[in-house]
Parts: sequence; C-alpha cells; structure tokens
Amino acid sequence: MHIVHITSELATVAKVGGLGDVVFGLSREQVKQGHSVSIIIGRYRHAEHKAVTDLRKVKTDCQVEFDGSKWDVTIEKGKLGEVEVFLVDTNHPEGFFAQEEVYGYSNDTSRFLCLVAISYAILKEPAKCKMRPFDMVHLHDWQSAPFSALAKQKGLNVKTVLTLHNIEHQGQASPEIFARAGIDHEGASSSLELGLLTASGLSAVSKTYLKEIQTADGGRGLDRLLKELVLKVPTKGIVNGIDENFWDPSDKVVSAPFSSKTLKFTSAKSQCEQKAKCKQAFAKSYHLSFDPSKPLVACIARLVPQKGLDLIEHALFQTLELGGQFVLLGSSPIAHISTHFQRLEQSLLYSQDAKVILGYSEELAKQLFSAADMTLIPSLFEPCGLTQLIGFRYGALALARETGGLKDTVIDVDNHPLKDALGNGFSFLYPDYQGVGYALTRALDMWKNNPKMWQKIVKRVSSQDVSWRHSAKEYETLYKAVLSKS
Ligand code: ADP
Repeated sequence: MHIVHITSELATVAKVGGLGDVVFGLSREQVKQGHSVSIIIGRYRHAEHKAVTDLRKVKTDCQVEFDGSKWDVTIEKGKLGEVEVFLVDTNHPEGFFAQEEVYGYSNDTSRFLCLVAISYAILKEPAKCKMRPFDMVHLHDWQSAPFSALAKQKGLNVKTVLTLHNIEHQGQASPEIFARAGIDHEGASSSLELGLLTASGLSAVSKTYLKEIQTADGGRGLDRLLKELVLKVPTKGIVNGIDENFWDPSDKVVSAPFSSKTLKFTSAKSQCEQKAKCKQAFAKSYHLSFDPSKPLVACIARLVPQKGLDLIEHALFQTLELGGQFVLLGSSPIAHISTHFQRLEQSLLYSQDAKVILGYSEELAKQLFSAADMTLIPSLFEPCGLTQLIGFRYGALALARETGGLKDTVIDVDNHPLKDALGNGFSFLYPDYQGVGYALTRALDMWKNNPKMWQKIVKRVSSQDVSWRHSAKEYETLYKAVLSKS
C-alpha cells in the first residue's frame, strides 16, 4: 500500500508533542512492514530541515487555490530514512509557514487550511509532483482533518483515515474561513468537525480514549456526533508505539548505555548499575546530590493544564518528603504557567534533590529517562501518552492516572488481577493529591523495602514491547476495512 500522511508535526523536523512522534514512528514502521509512505508537511522556516536528507526542489507547475486566487506551490522532496517527505509552501503573501513556532497564531486555522489545500493540489495529480499513486490518505487531528471534505467536494475519489490524537483543540472556523480554501463548511463549526463528517475511517489513540470522547465529559461537544459515526464508518482505538531506534537506551547520548539484556543489579538493591551511572552524570550536570539509595522521579511534559500541573508540583514536594529526588523537564506555551514554573525553578535553585528545568531538549529528555527510576504522568486526561512508554524502554516504572491511554498501558503492580505477570507501574483514579500520593507512597515503599520485586519489574518494563509493530498492523487492518467499503 502507498500511504500519504498529512500532518502539522513530524519528530526530528518540527515536533511540539506526541503527534510528531506518532507520525515519525508509525510511518517508519509502515515502511518496515512493506508499505511505501509519503508525508506532506508545511515547510516551516524555523524547522530542522537538516533531518531530511536528499532534499531537492520538485519542478512543478502545481498551484493552490486560496482566497479565490491561484498561488504557486513550492515542494521540496527528501527522505527521512525510507520515508518520503514533501515540505510544501506557497507564495501567498500571508506567509503561512514563516512563523517561529508551529502553533499559537491568530490565523492558525487558515494556516492549516492552506496546508490542506496544497495537499489537495498535490494529491489530485500526484505524478506532476513526483509522487507515486496512493491508496490511503491518513489525516491527523484538526490541522489536516478538512482534507477529506475538500477532496469530497471537488469530486476526488480518495479514502481517508482521520486519527484523533487530542480533541481538545478543534480549529474553530467560520464559513468564511473555510471558504478561503474553497471548502464548504457543511454545517461544521470547526476543522475537526468537518473532518469527522467526511472521513472514510476514524481512529483514536487508545481504546479508552475512544470511549471517553463519546461521553459528555470527554467529548468536548463532539460526543453525539462521534457516537453516530462509530456505527457508520470503520473505527478503531489504536494505542501508540514508540520508535525504538530513536528512543534507545543503548545510544551514545546515554552516559552509561544499556539495554533490557545488559541491565545489571547488585543484589539487594533497587538501583541498577547502569542507571546509577546515568543518575550520577545527570546529578553532576544539574548540581543534585548523588545517592543511589534515593529513587529519582522524572516528569517530562508540555506544561499545559491537561497534564495535571498542581499534581506534578505536589508530587515534587511529596517525593522529597518520602526521601526521593525529583526532576521536572518541561516547557509551556502559556505565559502565566511559564512564570509560575520559573518561580518554582528559582525556589529550588539550591535544592540537592529537586530540579525544575524549563526548556525543550530531546537530548536532555533521553538523559533524564535513562537516569529516572519512575516517570510521573498525573494527567487530567491523556489520549494515549508516550512518556510512560518511553520510560518503560529506559527501565522506569510509571506513576500514572487511570485515564485514556494511560489506563490501557499502565498496569498497577498491586491492584491488577494479573499484577504478578504484567505490572509496570502504580496508578490512581482520582486526579487529586490523595490519588497521586497513593501511587507515590506505594512506589517509594517498594523501592526501599522490596528491591527484589523492584528489580523484577524494571527488567519486565525494559523488555516490554512498546514498539509500533503491533499498532502499525492495526492501522493496516483499519485501512483495509476502509478500502473494502464502497
Ligand atoms: P503530548 O503529545 O500531550 O505532549 P505525549 O506524552 O503524547 O504528550 O508526548 C510528549 C512527547 O514530547 C514525548 O516524546 C516527550 O518526551 C516529549 N517532551 C515533552 N516535553 C518535553 C521537553 N520539555 N523536552 C523534551 N521532550 C519533551
């Protein structure tokens, strides 16, 4: 099958959160499984285009219709491994991809409608743009969702799957805004709603999230529509994987590289030898004390309300009280949240056991995952969540709220019926201080008092299959269901 992903994010090129990881990891696995994959993404001027190799301008007279006029489309085609990447732009004077950040501008809806219109211009005559004929167009969240409406309205016969990574943002748009891209709104008031109304198949990034978004609480106003759609179009809840080559504890960024097979423990200690060395190096760089008897809890997150910010802060202080260490690596697009965490960072400047690192760095994230004994994810809602999966790969147990994909992937070591065989973390139901405390106290108690059990679980989580293998197959099954439906 030839699959085309249209996306606003792609890890190593332009990533804000999990969406970028998903498109990156899924497309690479799809190639491994014998498909060919092309990705269409805006050519953001600030992005890391050097990750894309063999980048060449495609000679084409392709034009996009926007604001009732035609504009030249520029396409640069390159490779990310075996995945074909199309970086696209136009000479429209609004400069849709010229900004510093991927999101956060008053014309965001128009910016991504322009990406949709350019994608349509390419996919209606792919050969003109040096793309092979394709079987399936995979859309991601509100940014590329309206593609299915545009294709349908223009009579282009394509099959689409729309994946819901997070329906909190929907790309609210008036009929006039849709009209800029020549799209009829069909009664929809957002890009996401229009995509839902017209996609040939749907997926959400976990089974539990698929259920949650069909409830009044989790549906963000789309629950009724979603309930109708799941009965009409092929739909699946498919949990994300991670790219195991990118998130690899044996790579050179890690101070003491290891793998699930090489993990070593000295008897009767919860701390594994390699992770102790990683912790020591991290502690040195960030002026923390190094004491392998103290477990390190890490939280790596976009600092937005969804992530349970007061619970993160509470957990930091409770970890210190319980004799552990805590590092938060995060960044926030919201000014007052940034200011709040800058103050917290300042107040902890001289702490030997806690650090707040404000900023975005994948290299640092890898070093922190490799040093961490636990990752904390106390989200109010979490469609899938990747940090618990990345943490497993680096031998860190999860401390997670039972919601969305966290519920589907974190198995409580005490309370799950299959705990002895499968437990990989400590979970809690209610997003309050008591809940997070319940997970933390049990975890730190096991670390101190039951090192044999801790060692067993570290070995288990680090060899757990968190790859894309299974989930990419699930997408293939969904594509086939969509293609077989006339
Ligand atoms: P979301 O998509 O809601 O941000 P996910 O858990 O699905 O949450 O994915 C978050 C991704 O972003 C993970 O790969 C995580 O490691 C990464 N990440 C988040 N914040 C940072 C940061 N400050 N520095 C480096 N990586 C980060």
